[in-house]
Amino acid sequence: WREVVGDVSDALGMAPPLPRGDDILARRHGVLAEVQEHYYDTPPRIERGWREYLIDLDGRVYLDMVNNVASVGHAHPRVADAATRQLNLLNTNSRFHYRVITEYAERIAQTLPAELDTVFFVNSGSEAADLALRLAMASTGRTDIVAMREAYHGWTFASDAVSTSIADNPNALATRPEWVHTVAAANPYRGIHRGDDAERYGPEAVAVIDHLAASGHAPAGLICETFFGNAGGVALPPGYLAQVYEAIRRHGGLAIADEVQVGFGRLGEWFWGFEQQRVVPDIVAVAKSIGAGHPIGAVITRREIADRYRTQGYFFSSTGGSPVSAAIGLAVLDVIEQEGLQQNARVVGAHLKRRLERLAESHPIVGAVHGAGLYLGVEFVRDRITLEPATDETAAICDRLLTLGVIMQPTGDYLNVLKIKPPLCVSLESVDYFVDSLDRVLT
Ligand code: PLP
Repeated sequence: WREVVGDVSDALGMAPPLPRGDDILARRHGVLAEVQEHYYDTPPRIERGWREYLIDLDGRVYLDMVNNVASVGHAHPRVADAATRQLNLLNTNSRFHYRVITEYAERIAQTLPAELDTVFFVNSGSEAADLALRLAMASTGRTDIVAMREAYHGWTFASDAVSTSIADNPNALATRPEWVHTVAAANPYRGIHRGDDAERYGPEAVAVIDHLAASGHAPAGLICETFFGNAGGVALPPGYLAQVYEAIRRHGGLAIADEVQVGFGRLGEWFWGFEQQRVVPDIVAVAKSIGAGHPIGAVITRREIADRYRTQGYFFSSTGGSPVSAAIGLAVLDVIEQEGLQQNARVVGAHLKRRLERLAESHPIVGAVHGAGLYLGVEFVRDRITLEPATDETAAICDRLLTLGVIMQPTGDYLNVLKIKPPLCVSLESVDYFVDSLDRVLT
């Protein structure tokens, strides 16, 4: 590695940098790539994956407990086959109808309530959230949007503007545009819903929506993660969405569900987040796991909203919903159904949650265990009364987990939460290994 880094540095007239994981890989290919941020000082140099495992360049195997994008598992052969077959047929998207794209749109729509019958394809979750906001704005002719505190919807201009989670998006708070109005949905000590959460936060949000309408700013829509991913894996208080959806619609606005993180099975149902709350959104944004790592996103809405949008707005994506993306998306849906991955999320997730709750009994640093299916949060606190976040301790826990071959990262506003969201095919043995490792690290 030193040789390669030296060669590239000479060519670029730079002093050889210290070798650092992916940085080295980027340089080896002769590019100064802006690699994505890593939590680890020296991230593992991953070369390949299989199911819930990642394998580094030296052949070390890691258990991947964080990659929710790899829904069906890393390098699933059926996904790879579908992509290869389609690449050999065709992979350009233009304004024609391609069988594979139409078929994929139909399959996506079948997972949703019948009135959501129109599908737009994009390349990512941020684009999906962005388009969902545009659909709401253009089809209502309004600009104001109600967003949730502690939410994340993406990094593009509009999706960033409605993202409020502090740790992941420090700039958004400073630059929050005036068309975004925020309301709360969950207890700040996030996992634990007190009995009165829905009664407290629901009416507060409704009052904000009513006030906006009364002051001439009737919102175009309300955007909400139907299960708070970035806040650490927190279900919304029961009944919350029914209250805020009713209020937004009473004033002519639209309800947007951001299902980018948890849609399609992570919580044990196609769309647990809003199915549990017994509501049907007007616009649904999906991405991430539907492509099993391949860039794809979709926005699903009702025909009349899409038609109104077309008269006001503009949509064209050169690569959104390419034939290869659609072929991969179809393969992912087949694998989820045929391998019973939603059931796996329910069964393995429930087992994992029970084991983590038991772990909390013997380790007071565990302040709360929350979440559903295969999206769980473990929150570390210095003291269960003051709830002071155990930020440094959480970093040390993750470092030690890595030495035991477990990939895990601190998240949440105070970087004191482990968000546990492994591929949906994760086995009971793997989650047992994870809890045993955590137990060892905490003891
Ligand atoms: N919406 C939610 C709920 C997300 O969790 C994310 C990403 O973490 C996004 C949108 C943005 O998706 P992407 O990273 O694919 O742009």
